[in-house]
Amino acid sequence: MPTRVLASTRVSSETTGLRGHSGPPVASAAMAMLDLRLDDDELSSCVQCGLCLPHCPTFRATGEEGLSPRGRIDAMRGVQWRGQAPDDDFVRLMETCVQCRGCEPACPSGVPFGHLMEGTRHALADAHLVAPRSLRVGLSVLGRPRLLRAGSTLLALAQRLHLVPRRAGLARLPIRRGPPLVGTGADVWVFTGCVMDAWQRATHRATAALITATGATYAVPPAAGSCCGALHAHAGLHDDAVRRAEATMAAMPGSAPVVVNSAGCGAAMKEYGRLVGTPAAVTFAARVVDVHEWLAARLDQLPTPEAGPRPKVVVQDPCHLRHVQRAHLPVRAVLGHVADVVELDDDGLCCGAGGAYAALQPALAGEIRDRKVAVIADAMAASGATVVASANPGCVMHLAAAGIPMRHPADILAEQLGLT
Ligand code: SF4
Ligand code: SF4
Repeated sequence: MPTRVLASTRVSSETTGLRGHSGPPVASAAMAMLDLRLDDDELSSCVQCGLCLPHCPTFRATGEEGLSPRGRIDAMRGVQWRGQAPDDDFVRLMETCVQCRGCEPACPSGVPFGHLMEGTRHALADAHLVAPRSLRVGLSVLGRPRLLRAGSTLLALAQRLHLVPRRAGLARLPIRRGPPLVGTGADVWVFTGCVMDAWQRATHRATAALITATGATYAVPPAAGSCCGALHAHAGLHDDAVRRAEATMAAMPGSAPVVVNSAGCGAAMKEYGRLVGTPAAVTFAARVVDVHEWLAARLDQLPTPEAGPRPKVVVQDPCHLRHVQRAHLPVRAVLGHVADVVELDDDGLCCGAGGAYAALQPALAGEIRDRKVAVIADAMAASGATVVASANPGCVMHLAAAGIPMRHPADILAEQLGLT
């Protein structure tokens, strides 16, 4: 068993001398030793075989061992077990991880990499070594839907006036969203989310139309339950993430399934049991279901598509649907009801969106996206497909900003069935 360094974040003056950080002064004084508070069994479960490396987008883009899962785990061990300082390079290795978790299904030892990374970011955020103030302020807006929508509309107007530079990497945002969803009953909840409701509300209407077409009714949570906390958890802002999770759970009481059409939100909500750590959170998490899982079990209740040529649709799997929820196959079942599914041949490699990652690490996110765009272009050229389906708003916006014609699978299904 490795020796764990039980270190305080308080250090004496002779232990400083680390390279500078952009954080506040308290951060500088906290860098010499830091207890990451990771589970030693989880940290020791990596046998350093390297089988995860080809599945890691940052390793594929850079070829740098430190930017691979194995390299990052070794760096975590260095800080937790060997008393190494969480210096600039350590922070860089952690901040550049997309948290796509593509390394998890590839790992024969079952290393819970996502848990290790979230824990590391939590410790670093507590020490103000990651998650700068600007990010914390930005994330605080997510729980205030009116403010988020107003800000999004202003940004959309600025785009139309060419005031937003192309290098910002933003896809075209909607100025009009149409009316919000209004519940029709209580068979299921439809989680509307924050960014999803601001940027892709039409997908909520398509989701609602599909649920209605199966004969079920749906309820919509109040605004207080509009942000699941996924981005806060990714940033290491654990307490904020727990507060969001508790508000989200309180907004959707009862036992009805919670249908989610954003892969990142669904993945976070399915892990509320671990995040919040209460029996109620475990029970809630078990109610969460991705919309494709829910629909795939009810395809016989949907209308039969009209005879005629079927569209060809390239499927791009959001990492949090494929690697975390492991719910990418229902997307194919649902789309296959109305279209011919075209696969990518990159084994589900990340597109580089990663929640706020594309904004925080634009250069690396751009390199990762370039690879995905090339794979998509090949698949479209070979198949004749004219549209790409992806079930996560981050992926849709990130790839759309590179000129890829993106849609949510629910939009395609509802349209082909004449429901929207
Ligand atoms: S994380 Fe898993 S796959 Fe990667 S090096 Fe460690 S044991 Fe091997
Ligand atoms: S989560 Fe993704 S980016 Fe991070 S180490 Fe694993 S594969 Fe690489």
